[in-house]
Order: sequence, then structure tokens, then C-alpha cells
Amino acid sequence: MLSVEEALQKILAEVNVLEAETVPIMEALGQVLAEDIISDINVPPLDNSAMDGFAVQSKDTRGASEKSPITLKVTDTVLAGGTPKKEIVTGTAIRIMTGAPIPSGADSIVQFEDTDDQKNKDASSNQRAGQVSIFAETRPGRNVRRTGESIAKDKTTLKRGTVIRPAEIGLMASIGKSRVKVIRRPVVAILSTGDELIEVEKPLPDGKIHDSNAYSIAGLVKRYGCIPKMLGIARDSEKELVKKLKQAQDADMLLTTGGVSMGDYDLVKDIIARDGEMVFWKVRVKPGKPLAFGKIKGRDKNGRAKNIPHLGLPGNATSCMVSFELFVRPTLLKMMGKQNLAKPSIDVIIENTIINDAGRRIYDRAIIEKRNGHYYARLTGPQGSGILSSMSLANGLVVIPEETEKVNKGDTVQALMLDWNEEVNI
Ligand code: AMP
Ligand code: MG
Repeated sequence: MLSVEEALQKILAEVNVLEAETVPIMEALGQVLAEDIISDINVPPLDNSAMDGFAVQSKDTRGASEKSPITLKVTDTVLAGGTPKKEIVTGTAIRIMTGAPIPSGADSIVQFEDTDDQKNKDASSNQRAGQVSIFAETRPGRNVRRTGESIAKDKTTLKRGTVIRPAEIGLMASIGKSRVKVIRRPVVAILSTGDELIEVEKPLPDGKIHDSNAYSIAGLVKRYGCIPKMLGIARDSEKELVKKLKQAQDADMLLTTGGVSMGDYDLVKDIIARDGEMVFWKVRVKPGKPLAFGKIKGRDKNGRAKNIPHLGLPGNATSCMVSFELFVRPTLLKMMGKQNLAKPSIDVIIENTIINDAGRRIYDRAIIEKRNGHYYARLTGPQGSGILSSMSLANGLVVIPEETEKVNKGDTVQALMLDWNEEVNI
């Protein structure tokens, strides 16, 4: 049976980065830049004040202190978005607000807190007299934001391959770029299989269950920035399955759940093998052993034949989610042009004893908390592969290697963090 790594390598080998598309920057969150972005402006566009205060010549403040303030003549006020009309000459100051351009002649800003403005009882009389008292020395460049210090003109601001996060959207906005070229989001067709399944909005007849997999899987598809295409439920009949699978023809990936285990009506894997190409079936992992991976025939938007990767996820509610995290997620990230495919993982001290008599790699659901500088993991409770609440309680998956027969309480193991932010641009 394939290991998790071998299975993943086989899947990744079958997919490529998708094409680029141009979208409004607000829609690009989580997508990967398909162009270098070079700014044609400086941000900020000119030297400006980092503080509300007074623009001065720093040499005029030499020796100033609370005890022996230095008084300067206030000649003007300049607001953010305004233009200074006066120059600073020795002995003068200009009242200035954060973001306002530095008047020529000034080399420093004294913040209000270091003056009698809004502070000293005499301020009002001083202000009436057009004066300010300075209580502290300043130095050249203090509280001055330099032209282009955030983004320099003609320099590469963002490199192709960067993952777009809120900061990158802000950077693009600040240089006036409203649309951006990014790798497009994969469209993922999702099909549930099973005679026992009923749509979520329909009443539940005896013995039937609602189709939950389509929803948890669609949630994961969306979480990782892709577009779910809901194909609904196919009964366990060959005819219906083949018909439904046709609807996945224009998708970038097909995910089915159920129908891949050993039962009489587990038809999905047989149909992949017959109509498409089966690459592997079964992985040495728990939960999620009966994972099938193959390719089905589809068409791109120009009508050209293409192979669509098809992951036949196990039907059990937890198994299909864990399989998604292990195999589908990295595959989608590769298609989206991302480089970092690994789930964030940390060392945790386990608070349960876990027996591995399956000889497979176990991914148990756990609640992971930091206490006294260490991460601790405790299992969510019963780990049956159909117990979806175990997934709902968990924020991580503890990993028990296939060859480890027993993990004792207090041992350190690896855990995959399910909800950690995963994007870092270096
Ligand atoms: P299967 O692999 O088709 O035998 O399914 C394994 C188990 O998962 C069975 O107990 C199914 O009832 C359950 N199951 C399959 N598909 C779904 C689904 N879409 N939603 C919830 N449970 C499912
Ligand atoms: Mg089934």
C-alpha cells in the first residue's frame, strides 16, 4: 500500500499550475500573482510628517528642555492633503498635521507632546501671539516620512509568485493598481454517492442520512480559495454515476465521496478504472485508507480534450475531510501556483495513550492548546471515522507514524494545525 507521501507525489505529478486571469484586486485574496508589479509612483509621493506637531529647523531646538523651552514664531498651518505656502527660516515653525507635506527649509517635526500646544496653560496666549514653546531637542529627519520609503518608483513592489493577502491588496491600491493578473482559482466538482443519501433540504425518510460530505468538502474547497461546483447526489447505479460524472467535464478537479471501499455497490473506483485511468487505490493511512486517484476525460473551455484529476474520497464523514487536508489541499495549492504545500505542523505533548494496531499512519483529531510555553494535544473523544463532531471539536490532527505501535501520554508527536494561517511571503 502507498504511503501518504508516495500517494501525494503521484497526485501532484498529474497536475499543473493553471492559467492566469485578470481580476479586480478585491477578488484576488489568496491567489498567486502571475506578474511582477512595478510601481510608477513613489509612496509616499513626497516627504511628509509622521506626527501632528511643528515643522522646524532642528538646530533651532538645540538645548530646549521643559525647564528652558525655546520659543519659535508660528508662521502657518499645513494640513494633510494641503500644500505648504511658507518656508521655514531660522526661528520659525509651521504647525503641521500627520501626512502633510514637509515645508521647505524644515528638517524635523516636533510632536505636539513636546510643545506647549494643547498642554501648557500659556498655550492659548502663546498661540494668540503666534508662538510655540519647544520643550525638547529634535534631530534632523525626526518624524519625517521620506518620499518612496514605503514603495519606491520603478522598483518591483511585488514579485510574481507572491500570495495575495490583505497587505498586498493594500499595496496594489496604494500604487493605483485596480486589476491584477493572478493564477485562476480551480473549479472543483463535488459529487456525493450513495443510495442512503438525502439532500439537506429534504425530509429524512427512515434509514436515510443527509448528504453532509458535499458541504464539508465544499467548505474546504472554498477555504483554500477554490470554486465548488455542486453536482449533488448520485445513487449507487452505474448509469446514474456515469451521467453525473459527465457534468464534471469542464471542472479542473473532480471529488467524489463514497463508493470506494469494499462493498457490493462501491462503484466509483470500478468506473474510474473502466472509463478513465486509475492511478492508485488505497493509502496506508487512518482514517482514509480507501482513497482512489484517477483521471477522467474532460474538455477545457476551448473544447480541447484534457484529463481531469479525480479523487475518490472515502464516504465516512471524517475520513473524507482528513483525506482532503492530506491530498486534495496540496494538489489544489499546486494548481493555484503556490509553493508552500505543507500544512503548518508543530510538536505537541500528547495527553492520551494511543495504540496503533493498524500499521498505518494515524491522523487523530485533537484539541491543541498552549500552556506554559508548550503545546499539548488531547483527543476529541471517540475517533470513529464517521464521527464528524470529532472534526468539529478539533483544531489539529496528531500524527502517529505507521511503525509506532504505541504513543504514551507525555510523549511528543507532530500535529498538523487545521486552522492556522498558512500564507507567508518571503
Ligand atoms: P461508502 O464508502 O460509500 O461505503 O461510505 C462509507 C460510509 O460513509 C457509509 O456509512 C455512508 O453512509 C457514509 N457516507 C457516504 N457518503 C456520505 C455523505 N455524502 N454524507 C454523509 N455520509 C456519507
Ligand atoms: Mg456508498
